[in-house]
Amino acid sequence: MVDFQAFLEKLYWKYRDVNEGKVASYIPELAKANSDSFAICAVTRDGRVFQAGDVDQKFTIQSISKVFVYGLALEEHGRERLLQKVGVEPTGDPFNSLIRLDEDSKRPDNPMVNAGAIATTSLIKGDGPTERLNRLLTLFQRYVGHEVFIDVPVFVSERSTGHRNRAMAHLMLNFGMIDQKVDEALDLYFQQCAILVTCRDLAVMAATLANQGENPLTGEQALHPEYVRDVLSIMYTCGMYNFAGEWAYRVGIPAKSGVSGGILAVVPNQVGIAVFSPLLDGHGNSVRGLRVFEELSQEFGLHLMDLSMGRCRFEAAIRDSSELTAS
Ligand code: GLN
Repeated sequence: MVDFQAFLEKLYWKYRDVNEGKVASYIPELAKANSDSFAICAVTRDGRVFQAGDVDQKFTIQSISKVFVYGLALEEHGRERLLQKVGVEPTGDPFNSLIRLDEDSKRPDNPMVNAGAIATTSLIKGDGPTERLNRLLTLFQRYVGHEVFIDVPVFVSERSTGHRNRAMAHLMLNFGMIDQKVDEALDLYFQQCAILVTCRDLAVMAATLANQGENPLTGEQALHPEYVRDVLSIMYTCGMYNFAGEWAYRVGIPAKSGVSGGILAVVPNQVGIAVFSPLLDGHGNSVRGLRVFEELSQEFGLHLMDLSMGRCRFEAAIRDSSELTAS
């Protein structure tokens, strides 16, 4: 029988020397990332932690934040009102594309592309920018189970170079899809992307979604259970940028990636898994992350559409596995 912790360690050593891909550099501060960093972490819905590599290294969450802010917007506005402002269709376009914004409905296609994420963030309630930022920080704290902070240099770096995101926001302002406070919305979006997390944090966040919105380590409810399915559906169809279809086909687990190199994936009712490695492919997904997830999904039958005995293998592999920390 395969031991889950031993398998994670095996994956870590197997992919540690894969050096394909590039560190993101369009946000200048992100170019300073260490391309050797690599971590894998899994947290089960009952709070068992398995890990290998640099699981405590901090990095900015970037696009992965979109998932959680969308969940909060659902709680604040409900499905139907939110749907009027942000759609749920995958685009097949890069995450920073603005080409379709000027078509038909003028509504961003989904909350996982930048336009949709900026529109979603602009809907977060609160009396002024400080209150809205605190609302987001508190939200992320519920998911990770401890205080979170913003990487100010990354925030400032993106704020001063994010002209494409600014263009999108202004286009949406022009169509009346977001309100007048466009610079405030952009600042909040750049701040949420610059929140510092570790690979372990991401796995806990994923486990929280796997556990109907309740953080398995703290018992705190981070998202109302009613909206977990919405968030997971969007992750499944749109979470991996314009690779989402192939990811659903090959890996078959709701997931979200970010340009700093994180990928977070949720096997509902079972486990949250995260990988961190900053080397990205042309879609902006972590190269080592893709390999690790493909192999994990295959080995443990984690693909959601795989109704064979697969996932029993996962249950068996964690049952007797020790929760070791590998380096
Ligand atoms: N902050 C980044 C941006 O808006 C997030 C993109 C990403 O992680 N894909 O460009």
